[in-house]
Amino acid sequence: MPEPFDRSWKLPAALAAGLVLGGLIGAWAGDRAVLGVALVAIAETVLLLTRIRHETRHIMPPHPTISPLQHDRFMTRSRRIASSLRDLRSAAGSLPDAVVLLDNEQHVRWFNHAAEDLLGLRRPQDRGIHLHERLGTTELAGWLQDGAHEPLNDVVAPGHPNRHINVTLLPFGRRQRLLLARDISHLTRLEQIRRDFVANVSHELRTPLTVIHGYLELIDPEDVPELAPVLGEMRAQSKRMGQIVEDLLTLSRLETQDHVTDERVPMSPLLATVRKEAEALSQGRHHIAVENTAEADLLGSSKDLHSALSNLVSNAVRYTPTGGNITIRWKRTPEGATYSVSDTGFGIPAAHLARLTERFYRVSSSRSRDSGGTGLGLSIVKHVLNLHQARLEIQSEPGQGSTFSCCFGHERLLKPGGPDEA
Ligand code: ADP
Repeated sequence: MPEPFDRSWKLPAALAAGLVLGGLIGAWAGDRAVLGVALVAIAETVLLLTRIRHETRHIMPPHPTISPLQHDRFMTRSRRIASSLRDLRSAAGSLPDAVVLLDNEQHVRWFNHAAEDLLGLRRPQDRGIHLHERLGTTELAGWLQDGAHEPLNDVVAPGHPNRHINVTLLPFGRRQRLLLARDISHLTRLEQIRRDFVANVSHELRTPLTVIHGYLELIDPEDVPELAPVLGEMRAQSKRMGQIVEDLLTLSRLETQDHVTDERVPMSPLLATVRKEAEALSQGRHHIAVENTAEADLLGSSKDLHSALSNLVSNAVRYTPTGGNITIRWKRTPEGATYSVSDTGFGIPAAHLARLTERFYRVSSSRSRDSGGTGLGLSIVKHVLNLHQARLEIQSEPGQGSTFSCCFGHERLLKPGGPDEA
């Protein structure tokens, strides 16, 4: 008869497997590496220990053929396992992040205390329950049902309406899943404080700037010819400051908005307007062309779309040397329609592309300043596009030129002149 308690190899093996698996998942999950290792090792070990305890619960008292020495060894090992189990459970249980272990059909197998708090799970009744059914109609449930391929950022915690969480679903063991939810409410609060601060500062600066600008306009350079160059510079700088403040206020507004008021935005007149603006800015230094083949209007905020589309044209003019070409296109694509602005200008090295839409990010500060830029234009473009469920694509070759494309989905298109979706 085999020794009934000879399972001692399973614990170290499980721990080792858990650590290796945890390491792999952790490395894959980037900044969650350490947490990944700890969680997977803990979760897997807890499960194994639970199973061992379950399987050995009938073996007390030990089989009569077992010697007293074997019995004592078994008792010591049992106590050690039970104590490890308690420690590991309490460690996993007190993790600040919610951890839920799911089987391949998303049934809940195990969860910690934070999952009760953040996700509203209850024990024992929620063990074995289908997680997305348990979460009802929340955004989290929809995400799980859609396959949870990408992490879900900044959603309201189902168990706590005042908290916000980031959620990730990691593969684990044999077709199981580990759901991790991190409370990011403090980050959301800090972000709110930052937004309020920027909005308040910009608002407070607006009035004094208007006064300074007004007085500067009142002074006639002919009355003080010796100060004429200084006056010119002061006017230009106060105008620039005013533009930065206006752009910051626009960004603050766009950031706090979660949708736009939909209206028809007729594209032919809008393209004609951005062309005129580009020509005014270019002063004949560039060849500007418009190609409109989409035969579609847009559905969205007329003011915001105008600001985004003309921003791209103004950048093309400012970052293209005299004699260059600028082409504005509005054309159909399989996924909807694209508005693009191509130029034959300076271009942008690939290393900068990912950061261009950050506030005040510039490839060359002096070139941006000299051309009258605030460093906020592309940030505004990105926010406007987000509010229209559209995305910005940038292709650029240093020394050759750039193409900035705004890709809109079918749901944002209207037939010109008609009420129907195009
Ligand atoms: P800025 O006011 O400085 O132009 P933006 O947010 O509009 O700010 O653009 C960010 C940076 O991206 C610019 O400073 C510039 O370096 C680069 N950039 C934007 N558009 C172009 C373009 N068409 N060609 C080359 N560089 C560009």
